[in-house]
Amino acid sequence: MKCAICRNGITTDSFTTVLLEREQTTLVFKQVPAKICENCGEEYISSEVSQSLLSLAEQEYKRGVKIEMLDFAA
Ligand SMILES: [Zn+2]
Repeated sequence: MKCAICRNGITTDSFTTVLLEREQTTLVFKQVPAKICENCGEEYISSEVSQSLLSLAEQEYKRGVKIEMLDFAA
């Protein structure tokens, strides 16, 4: 798709790293599928992916970890 930020670039399917923080907990999700603009680098994460990210994060918050690195499996 065309980038909504710079209006010049085209996004390509790729992977990114997402950092989520809540209170004492820091979560780093690697290998998150995203569309990335080849021009400005803006990252677009689908609502399905961000939903799963949030529910995965919820489980980790409940475990009370301080910092955790996770591979996101789509
Ligand atoms: Zn762009």
